[in-house]
Amino acid sequence: MMNFLRRRLSDSNFIANLPNGYMTDLQRPEPQQPPPPPPPQPSSVSPAPERKQSTQASGSGFFSSISNAVKQTAASAGLVDQTSSTATKKFKLLLVIDDPHTEWAKCFRGKKVHSEFDIKVEQAEFKEINLVSYADGTCMVDMQVFRNGTKVVRSFKPDFVLIRQHPYSMAENENYRNIIIGFQYAGIPSLNSLESIYNFCDKPWVFSQLVSIYKNLGPEKFPLIEQTFYPNHKEMLTMPTFPVVVKIGHAHGGMGKVKVENHYDFQDIASVVALTQTYATSEPFIDSKYDIRIQKIGNNYKAYMRTSISGNWKTNTGSAMLEQIAMSDKYKHWVDLCSEIYGGLDICAVKAVHGKDGKDHIIEVMDCAMPLIGEHQAEDQQLIADLVIAKMNQTVPKTSAPSPQRPTATQQPQSGTIKEPHAETNKIPPQRPPPQGGPVQPQGVQSQNQEASLQQRLSPQGQPPQEKESSPTGPQPQLQKTAGPTVEQPRSQGQVTSKPGMMNSKPERVPPPKPQPHPQLNKSQSLTNAFSFSESSFFRSSLNEDEAKAETIRNLRKSFASLFSD
Ligand code: ATP
Repeated sequence: MMNFLRRRLSDSNFIANLPNGYMTDLQRPEPQQPPPPPPPQPSSVSPAPERKQSTQASGSGFFSSISNAVKQTAASAGLVDQTSSTATKKFKLLLVIDDPHTEWAKCFRGKKVHSEFDIKVEQAEFKEINLVSYADGTCMVDMQVFRNGTKVVRSFKPDFVLIRQHPYSMAENENYRNIIIGFQYAGIPSLNSLESIYNFCDKPWVFSQLVSIYKNLGPEKFPLIEQTFYPNHKEMLTMPTFPVVVKIGHAHGGMGKVKVENHYDFQDIASVVALTQTYATSEPFIDSKYDIRIQKIGNNYKAYMRTSISGNWKTNTGSAMLEQIAMSDKYKHWVDLCSEIYGGLDICAVKAVHGKDGKDHIIEVMDCAMPLIGEHQAEDQQLIADLVIAKMNQTVPKTSAPSPQRPTATQQPQSGTIKEPHAETNKIPPQRPPPQGGPVQPQGVQSQNQEASLQQRLSPQGQPPQEKESSPTGPQPQLQKTAGPTVEQPRSQGQVTSKPGMMNSKPERVPPPKPQPHPQLNKSQSLTNAFSFSESSFFRSSLNEDEAKAETIRNLRKSFASLFSD
């Protein structure tokens, strides 16, 4: 066998098929034991350990070179915080959930929290965000928004949330209560409170609070409309008087509100309710002169009257005239009472219908999702912003508590921190499946999955973000290029090698050798998993086919070194 191997290794065909330069590598003597270290010199640093590192087994040398290359690439891409892993950010992040027509960032420009933190604003609609929340109070939000036809992708950890959209509407078939739950789960402070926002997802549920106030104060002080609730259509038989307004389910903007003139129409609408699989309410139709809206933003009160011009009984449908009216004690009392429900509402508005008979009828209370109306919208917007800042000062901690390391199957030594855009923690949420069939990361140890999920979140669907755009509120860390590794690829495919004594037989695949634990190597693996596996140009050039072959040869040589020396 020895002779065979000697012959084989001196075979010119075999040598000719070796990758460029590896004949010299084969002929080079195996690195010997490092020379004995020179006698210790107190004032000088011994070079021995360095040399030892550079002459380590070829496998780890190979990976450490990959590791270095990855580290350099990651550093140049801004992924690795080379200075400090615990650097504290100089801003607090406010997530505003609103449509893009109202720009919120301008209201917070130059404003500070705790007199030292800038307020960085991210704005998106419910439909543009998703999140992962942890019991330790971490909430990582993924956001994909389109701005001027450009897709903007962000991942961040909000310090505070301002919610200006309805999380739930049957009309649009939208239900984002799960997002509200996510914020609440992580304890993210918000305006209004998340608890109240969740409670506001069912109008009759909110109306029940008004019923309580009505019971306490009576119709004189709190003239609530006489409403009837039906959990479903079954009991919707008739009403004592007509016309009535039937309000089906939870919807806004006049949707699902029907004026019913008589008993027959009522039965018709009951049959419609039967199809909707939801609740309904019924209340007397008020022949109205105008609607009243009393809004409260913090301690700022405003009252408006809205008169239909187009003749629609719903003044919020068709054209209407809006006028600001004096803030009476009565109105103030109503809205103050309503602002106390669910532990307090920072922003709310009471809606009432003023009948032609001169009587007021309170029909609803709105929360922080109420649209701003009238001439003072800009002022109201700034009032809301100031309220947010005040609440951020109360609720957002000055320092972010370091998130405890999640126990992992293999805790890898880490010398750096993978930086999240806006996120000061290195906590990575578990990976979600790519929404549109992106590459699925192999299931491995948790630490690898975590890193892979970073890649997923920085590059949804396993692709680099289509476009990069700086935040409207300031520069954002961005990943332009997520170079993918192939270091895992050839290894996972197995290395082609040959068994001794079977040189002429067909090479077979054997599992890749398990690398020894090595900080650099682990770092390399960790980082490479953070990159896209599909985009591997950098690594492809680093670990080309030649090197894979050379690796095989090195292993072969090492395996039989002892035989040759016999
Ligand atoms: P949201 O404020 O959530 O958008 P909405 O507009 O869908 O609610 P309502 O405010 O209850 O629903 O009703 C819409 C409009 O219909 C009111 O602004 C008011 O003009 C009119 N309206 C509602 N209830 C009555 C009623 N009982 N009698 C007369 N008019 C009513």
